[in-house]
Amino acid sequence: MPPTVEVFEPADYSLEELAFMREHLRETPNVALHGKLPSGVNPVAIKRALGRFSELHELAEVKQVPWAGYEPIEDAIDRFIAFQEKCMEGQASGEPRHPSQQTWDSMGNMSKGGIGSDASEKVRSELLPDGSRRTFTVPLVAVAKKSRMWGIKVPGQTTPDAITFNPNGTYECSICKKAVSSFDLAKGTRARNKARSDARTHCAKAKTELQRHRAIMNVPVE
Ligand SMILES: [Zn+2]
Repeated sequence: MPPTVEVFEPADYSLEELAFMREHLRETPNVALHGKLPSGVNPVAIKRALGRFSELHELAEVKQVPWAGYEPIEDAIDRFIAFQEKCMEGQASGEPRHPSQQTWDSMGNMSKGGIGSDASEKVRSELLPDGSRRTFTVPLVAVAKKSRMWGIKVPGQTTPDAITFNPNGTYECSICKKAVSSFDLAKGTRARNKARSDARTHCAKAKTELQRHRAIMNVPVE
């Protein structure tokens, strides 16, 4: 089984195959490959590409599964063929055969395999007159982002918000910037616990900065 075609790369096919594919793009392989094939057209390659396109097309029609559609493929084929023709013309006048594998420096000197240039085995992009590149690659299906099964790790509490204890017997809310409960230091633990609990209640019932108050509600305070 050949791998499923998930991106369409014109450079994977001969110019004869691309011309043939362009002509029979909306046909199933069964129909397209019926009869005698032009020379230079490998039926296996055509079957693989057209088979995948018609699968995706069918899924889109019947199940509304999105895919790239035929138009971007046609466009990529047209641009690829045109670019190849231009390259061949250029080669006849002494230009490199595969200009997209080259980069040019500011002086106009050419070198092969620079940053952004195509790898030597494939022509993946066309060079535009202004020197920019435009890819021929057509992603056939949108790559869905994987959802995380167990959720994202939440970093520890980093909020600067807090209920803090002041030695004068008050609990201060840093969000409201004021004392929200107090107790008589002489009355000991019970009074202190009550004041602490009042501070938590302040957070629970806060009318402003709800999220921030809730975040510190259960953080132990002194
Ligand atoms: Zn507060």
